[in-house]
Amino acid sequence: MSNFGEPQTVDEREVAVRRREVIPDDASFALCLTHDVDRPFKTYQAPYYALRDRDLSQIGDLLPGRNPYWSFDLIRSIESDLGVRSAFYFLDEESLFTDRPRYELLNPTAWSRYAGRYDVTDPRIAEVIRDLDDGGWEIGLHGSYNSYRDEAALRAQKRQLESVLGRPVCGVRQHHLNLSIPETWEHHAAVGLAYDASLGSSTAYGFQHGYGLRRPFDDAFVVFPLTAMELSLPIDTEPERAWDACEELLAEAHENAAVMTVLWHPRFFCADTPEHAPIYRRLIERAQEMGAWVGPPRDLYERLDHPTGECADRCRCSNGAISPE
Ligand SMILES: [Zn+2]
Repeated sequence: MSNFGEPQTVDEREVAVRRREVIPDDASFALCLTHDVDRPFKTYQAPYYALRDRDLSQIGDLLPGRNPYWSFDLIRSIESDLGVRSAFYFLDEESLFTDRPRYELLNPTAWSRYAGRYDVTDPRIAEVIRDLDDGGWEIGLHGSYNSYRDEAALRAQKRQLESVLGRPVCGVRQHHLNLSIPETWEHHAAVGLAYDASLGSSTAYGFQHGYGLRRPFDDAFVVFPLTAMELSLPIDTEPERAWDACEELLAEAHENAAVMTVLWHPRFFCADTPEHAPIYRRLIERAQEMGAWVGPPRDLYERLDHPTGECADRCRCSNGAISPE
């Protein structure tokens, strides 16, 4: 432990600055919770798994009234129980059947990418979006597969989501973490998004991109590096080892006053993958025991002091209210 007045190392100084300038409420570190809403409906996956696993019960998941991938209520109840909120990023993907070239109907990759799409204006989705927003959850944009290099598409998707939400969205994560640096971030800033959460890996967890936030343009546009996606942890095969990895990340976050951002896809909060929800819950509980601030990236973003004194281009946030472009 270093006493006041003793010389500090560069690392110690960085930790002290981050604790003061980035971490809210004198907390020890920040844990940002995020969910990418890729496929809220189990559609083409059910016949696929039934054939692969010779499990006809999977077909039952297609019956009306049964939808195991609809996990919004479970996630909401876990988080409400623990007094925290998270961000849900909604996707407005192109349709394999109406937007993509016909030859892609013969391509299995195209099926997995575009056939499971949903529509953010679908009344069931629109209702969830508004309910989550009303309850204090963050609604963000999950940029479609090609939008990381297509500013016009990204702008259209943002508008579509905002038309459902009834107010501007602040943050984005690109589908598949697609990112072309710095072009994708330039597009994000240009369409009025205040932060990006796409910098990370689906196969490796850790603080490869540092412990803090990034400001690629030295202005109010901020990047939240992704510390862990659930897919990078052996949750289904070795849940104890997955939990040990989570604890190590929390300890490292604590030691460095880090902003730790995690991604749990809603489809893993279902009966096919029973180990996920308990580990997610335990992660939040443990962070709270360690004195962490826990919440969605937007809530942390809104409490930062920005170098330019205001938020990113045309997206001014103050006290939770974001005014339109
Ligand atoms: Zn995605």
